[in-house]
Amino acid sequence: AICVLVISCPCALGLATPVAITVSAGKCASNGILVKSAQALETLGKADTYVFDKTGTVTTGKPAVTDITAYGIENDKLLQIAASLESKSEHLLAKAVCNSYSGKILTAVGFKYIPGKGVSAMISGRKAIGGNAALMSENDIDISLAAKDSDTAAKQGKTPVYFAFDQKLIGLICIADEIKPTSIEAVKALKARGSEVVLLTGDNDITAQAIGKTLGVDRTVSEVLPAEKSEQIKQLQQQGKTVVMVGDGINDSPALAQADVGIAIGGGTDIAIESADIALMKSELTDVVKANTFSRKTMQNIKQNLFWAFFYNVIGIPIAAGLLFIPFGITLSPMIGAAAMSLSSVFVVTNALRLYKMKDK
Ligand code: ADP
Ligand code: MG
Repeated sequence: AICVLVISCPCALGLATPVAITVSAGKCASNGILVKSAQALETLGKADTYVFDKTGTVTTGKPAVTDITAYGIENDKLLQIAASLESKSEHLLAKAVCNSYSGKILTAVGFKYIPGKGVSAMISGRKAIGGNAALMSENDIDISLAAKDSDTAAKQGKTPVYFAFDQKLIGLICIADEIKPTSIEAVKALKARGSEVVLLTGDNDITAQAIGKTLGVDRTVSEVLPAEKSEQIKQLQQQGKTVVMVGDGINDSPALAQADVGIAIGGGTDIAIESADIALMKSELTDVVKANTFSRKTMQNIKQNLFWAFFYNVIGIPIAAGLLFIPFGITLSPMIGAAAMSLSSVFVVTNALRLYKMKDK
């Protein structure tokens, strides 16, 4: 009797992808890269455009006041009004202002946050405003006194924040946020892989261009209101780009959700981490490059697995159907059949397990 043995098995085909993804996600996690969706791991390796938020993402997110210029009042009085106003704000710039003042804080009432522009409140019965040039012009405040100082600061990559009290400009406080050295390294590595790197920020154009130049990005998009960030991502996608967005703030969340892959900086806000597909525990952008490497290697591994499982079955099924018996009279023992059946799965799993050892270069 012809002993027809089932030596092929479709299990390997089914295992090819999930095992590789599981192993790879574990490998990423042990490198501080938390992957929330398998889809993200797959898409990341194919991405051609990387969009980085500036504050808190490419910079340390620990901005500090570097220059204080008061117009018509004492430095200390300027700081008191500025800190009293900013004490109500959660913004990183606000924290920097508050950290530079240790005196008495005045009560601020009717606090308002104008997204992407600044803040306002009533202090001692008069209106205090702090923010960028756009906010000052909206409030008809003449900032020409500060033009030279703000320009100099912005060219050095610092953010100038104007303060007005009772409809008059009272001061300019410049805030610097250092670029993380790993950010420059990451931009270089991504560009070397042929990707376009874009800096996206709500900050003023001169500051943004200065930071963009130090970073070495291909393009800098500045003065983007929080609500417009996701629109920028959409536009890139409409041009046929596969976009990765990396950000940390509340204002980055819609863009993180819109991007093909959203990556949140671990030190960022909860809502950013929630909206992202991947979170970086170490808050270093070089981990974006690592994640890209892992993604490419994982996809390569999946392709090897699928090829093997398919190839094995293509050979196995005809043999099981008696291909060797008719010309050569060869039959195989059921034991060999059983072993052969498992072998393809063993091979696929073993190949996927190699991902534990993959290098991040
Ligand atoms: P990003 O996080 O991309 O730098 P934001 O949208 O948070 O941008 O802010 C954009 C700009 O609005 C800041 O660069 C600053 O000039 C101004 N701004 C926002 N919030 C404040 C604040 N609390 N105090 C002063 N200026 C602010
Ligand atoms: Mg930010």
